[in-house]
Amino acid sequence: MDHRQPFEYLDNNTFSFACHPGLSCFTECCRDLRLALTPYDILRLKNKLGVNSGDFLDQYTTVKPGEHNGFPAVLLKMGEDEVRPCPCVTPSGCRIYEDRPGACRIYPIGRASSRTQGQEQAREFHFVVKEPHCQGFNEPEQWTVEHWALDQGLKPYSFFNDEWTGIITHKGSPGSEEAISRKMQMFFMACYDLDQFRRFVFESTFLRRFDIPEEIIKRMKTDDEELLKLSLLWLKFSLFGEKGLPLRPE
Ligand code: SF4
Ligand code: SF4
Repeated sequence: MDHRQPFEYLDNNTFSFACHPGLSCFTECCRDLRLALTPYDILRLKNKLGVNSGDFLDQYTTVKPGEHNGFPAVLLKMGEDEVRPCPCVTPSGCRIYEDRPGACRIYPIGRASSRTQGQEQAREFHFVVKEPHCQGFNEPEQWTVEHWALDQGLKPYSFFNDEWTGIITHKGSPGSEEAISRKMQMFFMACYDLDQFRRFVFESTFLRRFDIPEEIIKRMKTDDEELLKLSLLWLKFSLFGEKGLPLRPE
């Protein structure tokens, strides 16, 4: 695989692209990848595959400590044969297509976002990533970035990924040397092992310490997205002392 990343600016915010089984490159891009999963990717993948987050992490991923500015990264584990196929690829395409990771959805667009502290909304930048083997650029369909994002169902990915990026690029320090190892375990559980985080919320003193509205507590029992919102707020509170999660007065 050619690992060069030929980035190109978007011309008038539009690009030509289509991906379909009729192309000779079909599924060529689903191999030998270094695909870092975000918390929202894992939420969607484990639910699609019908496993809990702990089993998903064991079976499908490799952990790389320290890779996200000191925080651990989780990579989708490629197959071990020569072409190193993605575990989700089949001859007829992606078997988890509706829940594929954000990086697979957004291709061929690259997205960067930046948010300064105190700024409500992240600023977005887009560019085209023209992989040399990809024939999709020769297809006539025209897209704008906005239309592509809508078509690929990127909205919830952008929301959760921006919240999470705010944590892994946070300027604050997670604390003393002694605290770091414990905080990395907290980070791992809250970001990647959501079913374990749910047990932590409901089986520890968590709900006696934090003032969470009853309605949200009820939803978090079964709604993973609601739980992930809480886990990211809790991390900002625990790692950097942000005030988004109110403590009970007592
Ligand atoms: S290489 Fe490009 S066109 Fe071919 S399958 Fe992958 S994304 Fe689609
Ligand atoms: S998750 Fe699906 S779309 Fe992404 S690399 Fe694997 S097979 Fe391809």
